[in-house]
Amino acid sequence: MKHVVFACSLLFSFSMSGAEVSPSATAREQKISAAAENLRSTLIQTRRDFHMHPELSNREERTSRIVAEKLRSFGFDEVKTNVAKYGVVGLLKGGKPGPCVAVRADMDALPINETIDIPYKSQTPGVKHACGHDGHTTVQLGVAEILSKMREEIPGSIKFIFQPAEEGPPAGEEGGAPLMIKEGVLDNPRPLAIFGLHTTTEIDAGKIGVRSGPAQAASDMFDITIHGKWAHAAHPEVGVDSVVIAAECVTALQTIKSRRIDTFQPVILTIGTIHGGNRRNVIAGEVKLEGTIRTFNEDTRKRMKELMTQTLEGICKTYGATVEIKIEEGTMVVNNDPKLVEDTVPVMRRVVGDTNVITAEPRMGAEDFSYFQQVVPGFYYRLGSGNKAKGITADAHTPEFDIDEECLVTGSKVMANVLVDFLDRQK
Ligand SMILES: [Zn+2]
Ligand SMILES: [Zn+2]
Repeated sequence: MKHVVFACSLLFSFSMSGAEVSPSATAREQKISAAAENLRSTLIQTRRDFHMHPELSNREERTSRIVAEKLRSFGFDEVKTNVAKYGVVGLLKGGKPGPCVAVRADMDALPINETIDIPYKSQTPGVKHACGHDGHTTVQLGVAEILSKMREEIPGSIKFIFQPAEEGPPAGEEGGAPLMIKEGVLDNPRPLAIFGLHTTTEIDAGKIGVRSGPAQAASDMFDITIHGKWAHAAHPEVGVDSVVIAAECVTALQTIKSRRIDTFQPVILTIGTIHGGNRRNVIAGEVKLEGTIRTFNEDTRKRMKELMTQTLEGICKTYGATVEIKIEEGTMVVNNDPKLVEDTVPVMRRVVGDTNVITAEPRMGAEDFSYFQQVVPGFYYRLGSGNKAKGITADAHTPEFDIDEECLVTGSKVMANVLVDFLDRQK
């Protein structure tokens, strides 16, 4: 899947740097940026350590231990561990009264073998930080370190959420954002807003990609079983050939998007696996298909399920087969609160420069940050981590994926400023 990002300012509807900023706010922003610059070597070291020791979803034992140790060393008021398995939640109370704001980073790696030759190569065969979560955890620790050193100036508190299992818990286990919410991560205190970021090599390091409203797709999973009738391959007339029926189903499902859904609604229906039959000379009595649906709004999401069921039942009935359809709801649309985005973009522009905050195109990849946004307004933005000159262009979830570590500094200075600016605006 290719995700295109436009740097075209015509598409960018946010106002330029915005209202006047007080001299004290400007001084604070510069102080935060300087602190992030000074942390460069620490950030790189931390990220390389996480990168060399990747841990799968719900198995982030070492990572979470290091995170909790660091938060305690920064003097955090509360550090809760074992939240939703290996999650860590730290609360930093500022020296001035004010509300709470939250920030979230994910910590898990993927079952992908690292194939690139880098000095910080994964030490665990078959497991790799191929989605940049090592960078997210590092940036959030950078933000924690910077802000803990200037807590007296912070008007309110900041909840640092380090989340396990964003890539999805292993089968039969709970995990990720929904479990964190269930275990009360957004309570006591309840944050007024939540922020998060994701690296992307489609945007150059040093830049930030933002999108107001729906930004990433909802993802649902489905399992289809077609029941035909086994027969001798030479006597198809006495059987019901589920392979032929499956072939027709696969094709028909693809026409839902092109013929039954509004052209302007992004939809993807992918059949990822298809298994059936057991011999070349036997008519298969059963075929199983697995797949995923990606949609950008709730109406289309619901409509896709209805049309899929209707199509499959219709075809199977025509040929005398029956069908079982199991659709499991996955993550919801990442929906960035427009007011929060509008109010946050000016500080981002001040920190990295007007031309370095660009509009990100919507993506069909899902992200479980969306669950937090169901509870409090949230803004999930994209942290540029690509660098063509250094050859850092591989997409996430590939064995060649890497990030330009310069993004760790940019990410830390932007997020630290975004959080303090948010609290400042509530005064
Ligand atoms: Zn991922
Ligand atoms: Zn990710």
